Amino acid sequence: MQFIDLEAQQRERLPDGRTIREAVDTRIAAVLNHGRYILGPEVEELESTLAAYVGVDHCIAVASGTDALLIALMALGVRAGDEVITTPFSFIATSETIALLGATPVYVDINPASYNLDPAKLEQAISPCTKAIIPVSLYGQPADFPAINAIANRHGLPVIEDGAQSFGSTQLGHRSCSLSTIGTTSFFPSKPLGGYGDGGACFTNDPELADRMRRISRHGQERRYFHSDIGVNGRIDTLQAAILLAKLPNFQQEVEARGRIGAAYSSKLNAAGISSTPQLAPGNTSVYAQYTVRVPNRAEVQAALQQQGIPTAVHYPTLLCQQPALLCQHSCCSTGCAAPLAQTASEQVMSLPMHPWLSDADQDRVVSALASVLQLHSLSSAT
Ligand SMILES: *Cc1c(COP(=O)(O)O)cnc(C)c1O
Repeated sequence: MQFIDLEAQQRERLPDGRTIREAVDTRIAAVLNHGRYILGPEVEELESTLAAYVGVDHCIAVASGTDALLIALMALGVRAGDEVITTPFSFIATSETIALLGATPVYVDINPASYNLDPAKLEQAISPCTKAIIPVSLYGQPADFPAINAIANRHGLPVIEDGAQSFGSTQLGHRSCSLSTIGTTSFFPSKPLGGYGDGGACFTNDPELADRMRRISRHGQERRYFHSDIGVNGRIDTLQAAILLAKLPNFQQEVEARGRIGAAYSSKLNAAGISSTPQLAPGNTSVYAQYTVRVPNRAEVQAALQQQGIPTAVHYPTLLCQQPALLCQHSCCSTGCAAPLAQTASEQVMSLPMHPWLSDADQDRVVSALASVLQLHSLSSAT
């Protein structure tokens, strides 16, 4: 059993009857024929298709989800001495990009039910240095944007949704990456919309921010060899855009399969007496980029499952505020890094095999293996 089965994806059939593999081969051949490897026509085609899917005016396709965050922060003018509020319970990129610009990540603890930034603790973290807020839509469901946006608006602060894990999910009928000032996502192969390499995108309805993000992703170039902004080489490859375009006709079907498989996991696990299943906040759907439960004695549970050929993973074992690379060295850091609920989550969470092609039989095997491992464990620790 694989944690995420990307081989199965290549065999899937598109609405036109071809396999994804065949459609990808055709798209790659077209790029090799026209030869426009940088900013070829597939890039614009991808951007307009994704903007329409998300329901925003502008999409800028970039080289990775990390670059999407960096470019969004640069477009908002974040620089040394600024603070950016975010969650400590995420992948390194969320904070790394803040630190790269010389700004300070300020951490707000999570809501332990959704694992996302707790809006009730947001306002007390805002200081005169605050320049932006980056909630992460972790594991596949959006953070609480109605509450976060209301606070941000009161303080005139922009909000970047890190939607690397939530692309395709919705909140109150609106798609992830359309829920705040800027949405960013990743096309890393294992993400809900994965390419076959690195890629990412920024989304916004603000035309000025869109222009700035596009410019910054292309060396801040306003016209050929004239540079109005400091930028980066953050363009998506034409080849990667072509691969994503080949896969897109099946994406919504994959999103639905993810929702179905996630819900089936929850009911099977609950029926087996395991209650630490993901909780969807009201109004949210999830794409279950990770299907994550909490377990006691995690390392032993993981080892026992591995023995039965069931891979698991931990997202994430170390909080961002405890990463050696990010230990706060700035006196401006106003709130410190105390995040006890994120800390407990980081010690307990465990992600199970999850992808749109997970069979019923494999899912049943995961559920019964986990149930028996946990039961054995409680018996042995009781004696
Ligand atoms: C994967 C991920 C990123 C970074 O995306 P890359 O495309 O790998 O650079 C950022 N934030 C979160 C929450 C992620 O899961």
